[in-house]
Order: sequence, then structure tokens, then C-alpha cells
Amino acid sequence: MTSFSNVAEKARAGERLSFDEGVSLFNYPNLPALGALANDVRERLHGDLAFFNVNMHLNATNVCEASCMFCAFARQEEGNPGAYTMSLADAIGRVEASKDKALTEVHVVNGLHPGLPFDYYEELLRGIKRVRPDLHIKGFTAVEIEYFAQKFGMSREEVLSRLVDCGLGSLPGGGAEIFAPSVRQKICADKVDADGWIEIHQIAHRMGLKSNCTMLYGHVESIEERVDHLCRLREAQDQTGGFQCFVPLAFHPANTSMQRLPPPTGCEDLRVYAVSRLMLDNIPHLKAYWSMVGQKTAQVALWFGADDIDGTVEEERIYHMAGARTPQALTRAELVHIVRKAGRTPVERDTLYRVVRVEAEGDVSREAAADHAGPTRRATHLPKLRVVTTEQPT
Ligand code: SF4
Repeated sequence: MTSFSNVAEKARAGERLSFDEGVSLFNYPNLPALGALANDVRERLHGDLAFFNVNMHLNATNVCEASCMFCAFARQEEGNPGAYTMSLADAIGRVEASKDKALTEVHVVNGLHPGLPFDYYEELLRGIKRVRPDLHIKGFTAVEIEYFAQKFGMSREEVLSRLVDCGLGSLPGGGAEIFAPSVRQKICADKVDADGWIEIHQIAHRMGLKSNCTMLYGHVESIEERVDHLCRLREAQDQTGGFQCFVPLAFHPANTSMQRLPPPTGCEDLRVYAVSRLMLDNIPHLKAYWSMVGQKTAQVALWFGADDIDGTVEEERIYHMAGARTPQALTRAELVHIVRKAGRTPVERDTLYRVVRVEAEGDVSREAAADHAGPTRRATHLPKLRVVTTEQPT
């Protein structure tokens, strides 16, 4: 039988935890002790730093051929209530309108629109780069990459390299959900399978791109399926090392086909952060996405393994259509305040985790000013951290 003290000893010594040990941690009742253990690892990696970025989201269309049961964002056809597709001018104009904001990233994720040509996406990237050449474009989940490959008769490599040629800088982690085929079959049967999702990220890593990875938890999956998911991500990272950050995504049931299910509780959220930090010994960062779990849980998560709370976001749509009650954006000063009040040192980072600015105590007036500052403050490199990963973020 696996005892908590044995697992704790291994985790503190930096040894890899097994599948069975991961399951035992999910079942361990003493949540504060679990959190303290995850916090030891988190502080070994990042000290008391907590990261955020200044970014915007762009979801150019919510028309989507797939019908994932947990999704409240998608509409199956143009003309259905709530369906939208931005013209290129509108989508690019939204990024252009951010000119006076000190953003470093635009996060682009869309539905799988059956009627848009590949040109649309290439032009979208080129247009964003034309109006904001300084922004890093993190865009297109592995699910979208696979859809483009199938629909437009290209290899996964070709899709990625054409998008990179137009300005794509990295991949977000969406679409991983839960890798177990039985769960995938139930909740997102139309999506690329686990092997395909992993392969697309590994192709991107081999091309020199960084990416993030996710797990959608709190619906029909078992604890064993969560641990299997984490082990598969860890194995993939051993091979290509390009995952920068793991983002646990809490299921939001409102307006979805699974709305009869209760949402995960706060304790479940914290447990997922803690176990993920302990299992994923080769992925440097762990994000408590404030927009999804709320600012308060995100603050506590900074003591349960998380070292990042995501960004200013500016118009989050995907979780708000699923009933998220958080604001659709936060200012930079609000993020700094949240982190500082959690007892951590706020660090603005760019997409690749290069430091834009470390917020010393008492920087409040500068924070407010930075919310209105112009673009392009040059990123500098991270202070020396002990990061357990096959590739350090640059
Ligand atoms: S989760 Fe993505 S792929 Fe699935 S229905 Fe929603 S937008 Fe489409």
C-alpha cells in the first residue's frame, strides 16, 4: 500500500511518482498536507514568484462542426441563435484597437467552421502581425490543426509550417480534455484522439515551437483516467520537452449537454492543482486560470502548486458562455493586486515565460500607469530558477 509519507519523501527528493502514487494522492483526504507538499515543489521551481501576462483573446468564430458535450461556446451552423463569424477586417480590427495597450500576446482559438477557407486563417495571422508586429500569436489548438489537415488535405507538419510562416508563435493547450478513449468517445467523439493531439504538439516542439497542455476535469472522468492523462503528458514531455505550462481546466456545466452534472468544488480544484504539480515533474509551470476558477481560488492555488494565474484576457467568451461568473477581463493592476494579496511576488511574463517586469512591493502607481502604457516593453530573461525540465524556457 502507498503511504503518503513515502510519496512525500519521493516528491521532496525530486523522484518521479508512479501511476499508483498519483491515484493515492487524489484519494488522500488531508488536502492541506497535499497542498503543502505541492507547494514545496512549486517553491523549489519558482520560489515565491507568480506569473501573469497582459494579453487578449480572439475567438474569430464559434461555428463548429463538432458537438462536444461540455461546450457552450459552439453553434453548429451559421444563422443559429448566438452563432457568429468575424470578417477578417473585424477580427484584425479588434487587435488593432488594442494599439494603446501594453499587450504582449494574442490568444486565438476558434470553432471548426466548415465554410472558411484556409486562407482566412493565414490572412488573420498576417493581418494581426501587420497591425501589431510586436504581439506573440499563440493560436489554434491541436484539434483545429487536425481539422485543417483533414479538411484541406495537408499533413499536420504542413499546416503548422504554413501558419508559422504567417506569424504563429506557439500553440495553446486546448482540446486535450481527457485522453482515455472511453471518455473521449462520450464527451468529444468528433475530436482528434489522444495520440493525434500529442503528436501535433510534438511536431510543433520539433519545429521549435513551445506549447501548453491542459486537462478538462470534473465531469465523467475517473481518478485513474486523470492520472493516466497526466502520465501521458509527462511521457510526451520526456520526448520533446516543449510544454511550458500545464493548465487544469475545470468543467463548467451551464448551457452544455452535461448541465445536470455539478461543477467541481473548490477543494477538487485545489486537489487537481496539487496532484498535477507533483506528477508533472518535467513541465515547468502550472496555471490556475483565474477566468475559469475565479480570482479567489486562483489566489489559494498559488499555495497548492500553481505559479501562474494567466493574463488580463480581454473578452473571454468560451467559459462565460458556459456560465462562468468571473469578469471577462482584469486589468494588469488587478492581477498584480491578486498575486500580491496571495503573498507572492507578481511577475509579468511574456508567452515564452521571459520576464517583462518583476513587481517590487509598493509599485502600485506604476501598475496603474502600466495599464495605460504603450506597447512593447522588451522581455528580459528569467532569474535563475531551478526548473525540472528537459528544456528551460528561454
Ligand atoms: S470544444 Fe471546440 S471543437 Fe468542441 S464543440 Fe466546442 S468549439 Fe467545437
